[in-house]
Amino acid sequence: MPATTATPPPALRPYLAARHELLWHEADAFAAEHIAPRAVRMEAAPGRVESKVADLMAARGWFAVTVPAAFGGLGAGNVAKTVLIHRIACVSAAAAAILQATLIPVGALLHFATYEQKGRWLPGVADGSLLLSIAVTEPTAGGHIGGIETTAEKAGNHWLITGSKIHIGNSHLAGAHLVIARTAEAGVRTSQALTAFMVESDRHGLCVPAHRPGLGLHGFSAGRLDLDHVRVPVDNVIGEIGQGLSVAQSSSILYGRPNLAAVSLGIHEAVAATTTSYLKARPRYRGALSDLPVLRDRVGDMEARLRAARILAYQAVHLLDQGLSCDADLINAKYLGHQWAMKSAQDAMELHGAHALDREYLLQRLWRDIQHTHPPAGTGEVQRIRLSDAAFDDDHIQWSERLAAETAWAQPDPTAA
Ligand SMILES: Cc1cc2nc3c(=O)[nH]c(=O)nc-3n(C[C@H](O)[C@H](O)[C@H](O)COP(=O)(O)OP(=O)(O)OC[C@H]3O[C@@H](n4cnc5c(N)ncnc54)[C@H](O)[C@@H]3O)c2cc1C
Repeated sequence: MPATTATPPPALRPYLAARHELLWHEADAFAAEHIAPRAVRMEAAPGRVESKVADLMAARGWFAVTVPAAFGGLGAGNVAKTVLIHRIACVSAAAAAILQATLIPVGALLHFATYEQKGRWLPGVADGSLLLSIAVTEPTAGGHIGGIETTAEKAGNHWLITGSKIHIGNSHLAGAHLVIARTAEAGVRTSQALTAFMVESDRHGLCVPAHRPGLGLHGFSAGRLDLDHVRVPVDNVIGEIGQGLSVAQSSSILYGRPNLAAVSLGIHEAVAATTTSYLKARPRYRGALSDLPVLRDRVGDMEARLRAARILAYQAVHLLDQGLSCDADLINAKYLGHQWAMKSAQDAMELHGAHALDREYLLQRLWRDIQHTHPPAGTGEVQRIRLSDAAFDDDHIQWSERLAAETAWAQPDPTAA
């Protein structure tokens, strides 16, 4: 596969500190040594969930990139998280998807879990022994959180959870799932009707049907969870009872959107690199296809999109790390990052002629993988709804502002001065 940007481009300087650049090189070296050789195998065996790559990333502590050192994590922040996901996605979007899927519930725990709960769940993520998933989507409700039908009923010191979740990232690798369930009766507003629960994967009554490969992201599992009266202790409630919508929404905006922007960016970089190297190598007349103005014009457009997508992805998480209000920027980075990568992937297919249709050729994988960054963390329609809210200045919660205002929404660290 042709090399993507080896050193961070100067346009990213405002957002990258020296430690981010080190991480960038570390991720590239890791991807070249450990992921690139496995990417071919992952593609050839779509029915297999790739746990080895997850183990290797876990051993580096990357699933805890945003977890504070007090809980064993790297405490490196959101720009560092984007660096890791982006650079891994240049080589394998499926491996990057495995990484990002755990980083969403980690974000939810950081904001909503009590200090004791953080101490219970996060060290396992940090030492690599525990991967997580966030389980919101349901067969009927789809992306409509208010339509969630999974219920949780209180039974003494426990809750009994029943329902089904689908398209759950890391369904087959996670040791615990952050499940959003309905805890209020019909008629209660969604903002008070849902609650978040940590559900260990070995709980009786939880069934994860066999992995079914999708169009792309081979090696990544985004499968189904069936819960039949799964009993969890009250200690497994994350946040307040009735706060499930806030847990799901804030995680999706603050972590899901930028994570998916980073996956799209990695795929986009690989699409552009594959296309330029193909056009340079393919002879035509007395030169190569890359000499033809009409093709260069399309590559110029691709380069414009890629450069803009890079800035959006990094600028948004930089604002988040600075504690600035940036919900709309996170949403925009995901929305345009996907749209632009899709457009470039489609152009790349056409620029490769029939060669693009060869099953063994990398571009096919990239084109299939990019289809997978549209639905998660909000489809294009959902992003445009949120962005039009921002345009009309409609009243909506700024999760990034709340993050800055309240470093921990849950119980404070009792050991802190
Ligand atoms: C790779 C991948 C990973 C995922 N990971 C997770 C995960 O970890 N956890 C999880 O819970 N879910 C996950 N999902 C699921 C994802 O969040 C949903 O696919 C998404 O919310 C959309 O739901 P849906 O696919 O059921 O589509 P639907 O909600 O049924 O929507 C279908 C179409 O209707 C449009 N639409 C729906 N409602 C509206 C509206 N109000 N206004 C305008 N248009 C609308 C949508 O934009 C879409 O085009 C993942 C999905 C993928 C592909």
